[in-house]
Amino acid sequence: MSNIFGPVPSRRLGRSLGLDITPYKTCTFDCVYCQIGRTTNKTVQRMDYIPKNLVLSELKDFLDMEEDIDYITFSGSGEPTLHSGIGEMINDIKSMTDIPVAVLTNGSLLLREDVRKDLLSADVVLPSLDAASESVFHAVNRPHESLGIREIIDGLRVFRKVFENELWLEIMFVKGMNDWIDEITALSDAVCEIDPDRIQLNTVVRPPCEDVEPVDEDGMIRICREFGGDAEIIAEQRIEVHPEILPLLQRRPLTIEEISESLGIHRNEVVKHLRGLKEGGKIVETVHAGKRYLGVKM
Ligand code: SF4
Repeated sequence: MSNIFGPVPSRRLGRSLGLDITPYKTCTFDCVYCQIGRTTNKTVQRMDYIPKNLVLSELKDFLDMEEDIDYITFSGSGEPTLHSGIGEMINDIKSMTDIPVAVLTNGSLLLREDVRKDLLSADVVLPSLDAASESVFHAVNRPHESLGIREIIDGLRVFRKVFENELWLEIMFVKGMNDWIDEITALSDAVCEIDPDRIQLNTVVRPPCEDVEPVDEDGMIRICREFGGDAEIIAEQRIEVHPEILPLLQRRPLTIEEISESLGIHRNEVVKHLRGLKEGGKIVETVHAGKRYLGVKM
């Protein structure tokens, strides 16, 4: 099942079954903190990237085997609203199961009416917004050239007005990039305009291809105060590390793609497992010929 992964435990969504509806890696952004790697197809073109019926039949097969899932979540190898069939897929899933549907999005296409309309049937939409000024937007999100942050904030605000279900806005803070007071104040103003149901503040973990640093705990508490008590700090939930990853890496260093192929699990799941090993100081990263390899710390 190449378009379905998990269920993976998520702090925000419990046991979340991921639906991956764009090819790796197709996105409107190329964020410095992206854990799944650099964007190779930066685009704003909506297309039928992966056949809807294939995704839905894989989902149906999965649900026939397992129903212990809190959310079916559109996420994966890029920006899911780039898929022109996401609205139909959400509606079809709603008629297939009572499990709520969530959409993780960078929010960049909500300025388009067709995208806003497509997401109306979702139970939860979780957009991210990491900048309120154009310069920080370009530094952190490295967007497609046609995108501007003011239009994106307007799109989120308009979507909020028409979307009757839950809207949870996530802001990812990167040390030295968007954690200074002017940007935090501008973000706080943007959040007031958008008026989401929840404001969730997060900070980065070291991604596979960039050297970015998280904001420390005191810094996150300070930032949270600037949002006037309406925000919450979230952190990704730890997951049990896959038992075969360490033995695999003991044989030789591997890339995320190679681990994914060897174990037959989606690269997003590999990223989550590796996070636990990195935090435990059990693995090291080396770069060779432009590729990042994970190996066991000797
Ligand atoms: S929007 Fe999401 S998938 Fe796209 S580059 Fe940023 S973090 Fe990665």
